[in-house]
Amino acid sequence: MPNMMSPISMAQSYGTGGGTNHAGPPDKYASSSAKPISNVPHIQAPPPRRAGITLALSCDDEQLSEYQMLVRKQLEIFEAQPEDVESNTQGRKKQVILGQVGIRCRHCSGLSLRQRGRGAVYYPARLQGVYQAAQNMASSHLCESCQCIPPHLKADLRNLRDRRDTASGGKQYWADGARAMGLVESDEGLRLRRPEGTNGQSPTTS
Ligand SMILES: [Zn+2]
Ligand SMILES: [Zn+2]
Repeated sequence: MPNMMSPISMAQSYGTGGGTNHAGPPDKYASSSAKPISNVPHIQAPPPRRAGITLALSCDDEQLSEYQMLVRKQLEIFEAQPEDVESNTQGRKKQVILGQVGIRCRHCSGLSLRQRGRGAVYYPARLQGVYQAAQNMASSHLCESCQCIPPHLKADLRNLRDRRDTASGGKQYWADGARAMGLVESDEGLRLRRPEGTNGQSPTTS
């Protein structure tokens, strides 16, 4: 398979254990030389047990506001593991199904669900719901309750939010991007399309 960084090939490499996708804080913000600018508590979360796929796409900058782009860099999609199913009891009407695709904050995903703070994980029912889920996560979690996101990133997000740079969200772009990453709608929420040749076996199953 050609090793292109298209959304599809990224999706297909999901869960292979290779660190190419998100081994540690990868983006330019991580190595910022800026001094810490706030006293927001900041704890280092252990790495997640299963790798996620970043929501950010290379073409984001052509379509989205700075705020939306920055939000997408903090979020990742993942398939619900047994611990996600068991621990997701926060007053949800609908049970999370094993393998169902959710969106989570990548900074605190190594913590147990109850340690992560409000709004760290969402399970949109449809592709069109990805956008609103992310907006909720941005305002309630990334800008507020996350204890793991680097303080300067939280501050950047708050500044952009307060500048009302949030409007040009490109709701359709969010849905199309999710589809391009291999997400499909099912009766049980979103699923990640299985790459061909895997016999329907989850690539996250070891
Ligand atoms: Zn978080
Ligand atoms: Zn910054």
